[in-house]
Amino acid sequence: MSRIAYVNGRYVRHGDAAVHVEDRGYQFADGVYEVIAVRRGVLIDAGLHLDRLDRSLRELDIAAPMSRAALGHVIGQAIRRNRVADGIVYLQVTRGVARRDHPFPAGVAPALVVTARRGAPRAAAMADGVGVITIEDIRWKRCDIKSISLLPNVLGKQQAVTQGAYEAWLVADDGTVTEGTSTNAWIVTPDDELVTRQANRAILNGVTRRAVLALAEDAGLRFVERPFTVAEALAAREAFLTSTTSYVIPVTRIDGRAVGDGTPGPLTRRLQAAYRGHVAEEAGAPATAD
Ligand code: PMP
Repeated sequence: MSRIAYVNGRYVRHGDAAVHVEDRGYQFADGVYEVIAVRRGVLIDAGLHLDRLDRSLRELDIAAPMSRAALGHVIGQAIRRNRVADGIVYLQVTRGVARRDHPFPAGVAPALVVTARRGAPRAAAMADGVGVITIEDIRWKRCDIKSISLLPNVLGKQQAVTQGAYEAWLVADDGTVTEGTSTNAWIVTPDDELVTRQANRAILNGVTRRAVLALAEDAGLRFVERPFTVAEALAAREAFLTSTTSYVIPVTRIDGRAVGDGTPGPLTRRLQAAYRGHVAEEAGAPATAD
């Protein structure tokens, strides 16, 4: 079966899907994106992702490419035409196509690309824990916008991969961890308090982060949204990361040093299970073991 992509009003074969050379996303990274998990053909937390897309667009003064209802239709088509039961949908909106010049072009429609692909969440393979490295956060000061300008994230992730780690945790000038290159970062302190950084301009407010906070609250767990340092993470009892494609993954090594006893901790396991339950509920399915 050949994959199909939606590109500016048309469904085209993935191999032929292309944007113009003067698309401002291509030339200036002048655009935003979203990744939404699909489980049993159902979008997980679609409303929150589409709300965040709207917010990212608003912050950059890019018009919505179509109504939410129309976008929902295109996403549904992308899922069906690619026969995605479990996988992801990728949406990208750029400021559109115009002669290369820095100021916003007048009268140009935003460009929209939607793709869908199959694949199990990474959480399944990584459930027993991963290593992270810590590196300098060299990004801009609006990390709350889900911009397609991801060069520091790409460089950081590559550094992690080169060093045999799953993720790089980004460290601000004051020594605190902001987040991972494509995930949010969490620790459990020695007195069993769950900690993740508060959502401001320094991080992307992950949809998974928000879901896990809500689950922690429902479970009556003690949590606080505040920055934590690398030293605090190294002394933590547990650590984990969250994202749409990773779900909840235990972090068992930071810069090669074991977190706690080097195995996933009980609170992490509990939130892993709770998040799987949340996804299953969204998908209208019984919770599974992955
Ligand atoms: N932080 C960054 C920098 C990311 O790119 C992502 C993934 N898009 C996340 C956090 C996690 O966000 P979400 O849970 O919405 O996937």
